Amino acid sequence: MNIQKQLIGGKWVLSSSNETREIINPFNQEIIAEVAEGNAEDAKQAIQAAREAFDKGEWSRTLATERGKLVRKIASLIERDKEELARLESLDTGKTVDESRDDMDGIADVFHYYADLAGKNKGEMIDSPIPNTISKIVREPVGVCAQITPWNYPLLQASWKLAPALAAGNTLVMKPSEITPLTTIKVFELMEEAGIPAGVTNLVLGAGSSVGDELSKNTAVDLISFTGGIETGKKVMQAASSNVKKLALELGGKNPNIIFADADFETAVDQAMNGVFFHAGQICSAGARLIVEESIHDKFVDALVKRVRNIKLGSGFDQNTEMGPLISAEHLEKVANYVETGLKEGAKLAVGGGKPEDAALKDGFFYLPTVLVDCTTDMDVVQHEGFGPVITVEKFSTEEKAIHLANDSVYGLSGGVWTEDIAKAERCAAQMRMGTVWINDFNVFFAQAPWGGYKQSGIGHELGTKGLEEYTETKHIYHNIDPQPMNWFGKN
Ligand code: NDP
Repeated sequence: MNIQKQLIGGKWVLSSSNETREIINPFNQEIIAEVAEGNAEDAKQAIQAAREAFDKGEWSRTLATERGKLVRKIASLIERDKEELARLESLDTGKTVDESRDDMDGIADVFHYYADLAGKNKGEMIDSPIPNTISKIVREPVGVCAQITPWNYPLLQASWKLAPALAAGNTLVMKPSEITPLTTIKVFELMEEAGIPAGVTNLVLGAGSSVGDELSKNTAVDLISFTGGIETGKKVMQAASSNVKKLALELGGKNPNIIFADADFETAVDQAMNGVFFHAGQICSAGARLIVEESIHDKFVDALVKRVRNIKLGSGFDQNTEMGPLISAEHLEKVANYVETGLKEGAKLAVGGGKPEDAALKDGFFYLPTVLVDCTTDMDVVQHEGFGPVITVEKFSTEEKAIHLANDSVYGLSGGVWTEDIAKAERCAAQMRMGTVWINDFNVFFAQAPWGGYKQSGIGHELGTKGLEEYTETKHIYHNIDPQPMNWFGKN
């Protein structure tokens, strides 16, 4: 098996330690690739390459419209290789190929969107209060950006960072999750093919504790953009204080989905499942916390459980599969423990709650889609992100109570509200303390709208124009066109 390499300063290289890592298919535990296992020393070299490339200025001073053309070229190469990328993503993550194809469409859209924005950085003229002066605001690239991504949406999360960073004229070092690097490696090849100059995009593979830590603390890095769990995010934040780096954190969520009795019942049941079970619930914005109006609670749970029982588990490459495996044995264990905790706290199992018995699935990291009822806000299982195919259900009696429950969380990533009453929907959306609120929908995101968390779900934004601003510094240039002596100091 060929060892897949890292990209440092325009060269594809092995790890400085020569160590490698085997990448496993979570459906059957087969080894699908062997990749270089980078370390802190490799990260230092990559940072140096990105630093030199930035300081040389070739990329940051390339006309923004020209940068935009190269970013668009990356989008078209992703479209050209969509099927290969989708299959690779499914092999590495276990998600269905249809889901991966959707991811690839979204990823190409993100590169197109930032390609468009690259040439539209207008800056701003200020109406200066001082006579004979010109005052203008310009946006400039931040410099060397370190980017760390998780395993659940490997290439989607990478695209939200790569496209705006390049469009804005930065150089970068990316570290994907150690267990799902394959599509990211492929896209670094595509960026090279598109003509991005050597040293502008650097890729280091390996573990968070070594490579990720170095990227977070190294003082030659100007900005760190991190997507992952809250606890890791806190470590990154501390390490980033070494040189007061710019910091963007996209962290976890335990996202409430409020169902009022007047919602369209069938649609709400159907979408409550879509909100959670894509990629086996391993979604930061999963609507894993259902909050259902008392008067329809039992009927809703019955309908939900009936549908959940029918979810077909299997290989992401089988057309009949609706849900694939979890990412790893370790994560399967975590999800199983999470459900056990809920049951000990008094939640009741309505469906699922274990590994499937089907012999065909025995080598995969499968967990049954699970619904826990009789949940209350004080339970750990409600307060913490399970990151698996698990829904907790709570009840409410009034609109005020529903909003109170939804906001009673350290997270603030996203939430949903289902009702046919427009005024009620708007009232709820206005009071929900989350970065994204969906009305009569769930888990919708696109390149044009910003994505980011309130509270401990993060700092800053990805996507939209705000996602580009993250990768720029704001400079005020003040020009006195009629300079005169002030005679303030030292004048007899
Ligand atoms: P982790 O926090 O475990 O890891 C995320 C990344 O951080 C990985 O690349 C990991 O490396 C790296 N890392 C680990 N330790 C350190 C460290 N000390 N310093 C720097 N980097 C480090 O998250 P998961 O990969 O388990 O991803 C799941 C989490 O991501 C969930 O909480 C989910 O909600 C969140 N997420 C948030 C999103 C959002 O948009 N808000 C989107 C997607 C996911 P490695 O694992 O290779 O060792």
